Amino acid sequence: MRPIQALINTEALRHNLSVVRAHAPNARVISVIKANAYGHGILNAAQALKATDMFAVLRLDEAIILREHDFQHPILLLEGVFQATELHVVAELGLSVVVHAEHQLQMLEQMTLAKKITVFAKMNSGMNRLGFNPKEYRAVVQRLAQCPNVEKIVMMTHFATADDARGISAPFEIFAAHTQGLDYEVSLANSATILCHPQAHANWVRPGIMLYGATPVSERPASSFGLKPVMQLESEIIAVQTLQAGESVGYGNAFVADKPMRVGTVACGYADGYPRHAPTGTPIAVNGVITRTLGRVSMDMLAVDITEIPEANIGAKVELWGEQVPVDEVAAASGTIGYELLCAVTSRVPVKVIHG
Ligand SMILES: *Cc1c(COP(=O)(O)O)cnc(C)c1O
Repeated sequence: MRPIQALINTEALRHNLSVVRAHAPNARVISVIKANAYGHGILNAAQALKATDMFAVLRLDEAIILREHDFQHPILLLEGVFQATELHVVAELGLSVVVHAEHQLQMLEQMTLAKKITVFAKMNSGMNRLGFNPKEYRAVVQRLAQCPNVEKIVMMTHFATADDARGISAPFEIFAAHTQGLDYEVSLANSATILCHPQAHANWVRPGIMLYGATPVSERPASSFGLKPVMQLESEIIAVQTLQAGESVGYGNAFVADKPMRVGTVACGYADGYPRHAPTGTPIAVNGVITRTLGRVSMDMLAVDITEIPEANIGAKVELWGEQVPVDEVAAASGTIGYELLCAVTSRVPVKVIHG
């Protein structure tokens, strides 16, 4: 069997949920498990996070899978529904929906649902992605309050710069000004807001990336927040080459040895989700020793420098990311964020749950 696998440490997931609760002790937690739980497997994550107060997903199919596996939690659809008929399934399964625009509000007003549902009314506080204009927001909430299909309203927004020096004060003030006097629960905080802006925890926090043990704040490692990596992407060396000075490695001869070297070929490439943009020097661990990648990542393989790890041979364990190599470091070397790498692990990589 090809040696690559993604190990999912469920103890780390539970630990990271406890970090969320320690930061936001007065808030209820909506664990975001969209995008197949950021690549970790939606059912693996839901099982490990079953102490959460609510789950959030993107697709109705994901909510259906959770119900089919007996998860009774409230479940929020983060983009709401895309067609009016989906609201019947929403009501039947007891799901909650985001309503972010007029067409969704009209669907809700025009249908007759068998059961009332919870609606998260989303304000566009400046990100200009989803949400009602702040000036219209109060009228939207009033229409929802009068809508016979609506059981409960939660007011929400999402911040664009919670992870950097600009912070959230401008959108936070817009939200506060346009919801003043409205007596409903509030949800504002993604991972960056949970970790950096306690004044905006409100009633419901919405952690995603921090649950998986990667950082939402590029300047700070996940470990500095006490988070533990959940996924370990592992493989093995499947071939060893000995190079003389002047010889090269991989496509384009992109890396040229300036001295005699030992090079390991690892069974992991961009078709597994490892970033092709990772340059020579990207951190990687072999036999527990941190070393570097060499040359271009190819579809099924990449090269690793084992000159200083003489005991490493065919079969040596390689950690692409995980406990020794934070996914955020591989991401930074490749010009992206840990989120993208975790979500991009492809279906040909077997996922194995380990109960830490
Ligand atoms: C994905 C998402 C989150 C989680 O964001 P993280 O940065 O992963 O914590 C929270 N809220 C909304 C609306 C989202 O779409």
